[in-house]
Amino acid sequence: PSTPRPAPSGEALRLAGLRRDFGGFQALKGLDLVIRPGEFIALLGPSGCGKTTALNCIAGLQPLSGGTISLGERRIDELPPEKRGFGMVFQSYALFPHMSARRNVGFGLDMQRVPRREADKRIDEALALVRLSAQADKLPGQMSGGQQQRVAIARAIVIRPPVVLMDEPLSNLDAKLRLEMRAEIRRIHEAIGSTTVYVTHDQDEALSMADRIVVMRDGLIRQTGTPEDLYERPEHADVAEFMGYRSKLPGRVAGTAAGRTTVEACGSRVEVQARQPVAAGQPVTLMVRPEDLVAGSSGIVATVRISEYRGRAFFGAAQAIDGTELFFRSDRPVSAGERVTLGARPDQILVFPGDEA
Ligand code: ATP
Repeated sequence: PSTPRPAPSGEALRLAGLRRDFGGFQALKGLDLVIRPGEFIALLGPSGCGKTTALNCIAGLQPLSGGTISLGERRIDELPPEKRGFGMVFQSYALFPHMSARRNVGFGLDMQRVPRREADKRIDEALALVRLSAQADKLPGQMSGGQQQRVAIARAIVIRPPVVLMDEPLSNLDAKLRLEMRAEIRRIHEAIGSTTVYVTHDQDEALSMADRIVVMRDGLIRQTGTPEDLYERPEHADVAEFMGYRSKLPGRVAGTAAGRTTVEACGSRVEVQARQPVAAGQPVTLMVRPEDLVAGSSGIVATVRISEYRGRAFFGAAQAIDGTELFFRSDRPVSAGERVTLGARPDQILVFPGDEA
């Protein structure tokens, strides 16, 4: 049964100048972020960029080295985790193996000394929400990975937290289940109306689940925006690369005329649609997605290194004459050693100034 979404009544979660050092190493170098009540935020970035550290700081599992965290008007960074009352879901489900699903879910309510009848009602609601009512008496060892993760989610939400924090909750599930659970988690988020902060290194997960994505790198926020913003308009070459613009072509602006810019790259002339002003002679980096860089009758000359059939098309890697590695698509079979010409539509090519990448 789908529950109508309650109006987000919660308060904004604010990170200001959040810093976290481990000895001399700065894992978080000053994060500023305002998360709106009811928002689903994905913290996205490569391994080691500080996502988990940020989540743990919000949860209160780690002290800050600087900055503040507030919920509405209240500073919460001095509060211990249990006083913040946030729900947490981890990659390892962290269930008690000797307790039934029902008792695992109820554990936090026991800690809060919620009266029995009220607790039972809330446990039933939480189990129903994650569609586990029929499995309530099973032990974790008698359940599938997906079911165990649902128990962990029920346990996190049964305390009615203003904020739910999830750290790569789907990493231990197989691909098919992962896909189903994305939709499930999104549905549960909407049903309970709380704010969700979700850590992942998987772009597809972030794109499909989040209202806004925060891309991190080296302890800093690189870009914040809607999935569409990040996918279509990455502001930096490293963000673009992370969002799937795999080919990186060093080039130099040859000329601009009538809104069209021509760039000399990989021994060829490439027409692009620059979104920011560029001047003739300026060094730039062009970036393009494999699905948009297509083998055809004109474009950059390259030699195929690898090519594989992926159902509708072939995808592969090729080397341009200057050595640049290009990732392309071909609608006809191509094989290693073959010469191809690769081209993309001007509006599908991103242009970044300098050799930022
Ligand atoms: P992953 O997806 O691999 O977990 P992450 O983005 O979540 O990556 P964090 O776990 O937050 O990254 O770690 C950020 C950086 O801080 C890493 O370079 C890590 O080695 C370092 N770090 C994390 N915890 C500690 C610690 N307890 N002591 C020292 N360094 C740490």
